[in-house]
Amino acid sequence: MSEQLLRFLLSEIKRIRFRCLACKSEAAIDLPIDKLDRLFKDGECPLCREQLVDDGAAGKNPFLALRNACKAFQDLADKFTLELILPDTEDAD
Ligand SMILES: [Zn+2]
Repeated sequence: MSEQLLRFLLSEIKRIRFRCLACKSEAAIDLPIDKLDRLFKDGECPLCREQLVDDGAAGKNPFLALRNACKAFQDLADKFTLELILPDTEDAD
């Protein structure tokens, strides 16, 4: 049996799909990672302004952390590569 994995370089990730559960719309929006710091600056949904993160401005905002982590790894891309792996769920026992 062959193992099937989906792997991709962290540096290849440029966009995320975001869906706010407070928004009336069921639609997810496609957002650039390098703009997450501005889009979620105050920890609010950029569409409906629901407060998503309790203390968005005090360093606990995961949208800012994601953006900063991706940028930090991309800045180190000449030293190493880092891949994210999605395992085949049928083999996950
Ligand atoms: Zn929303």
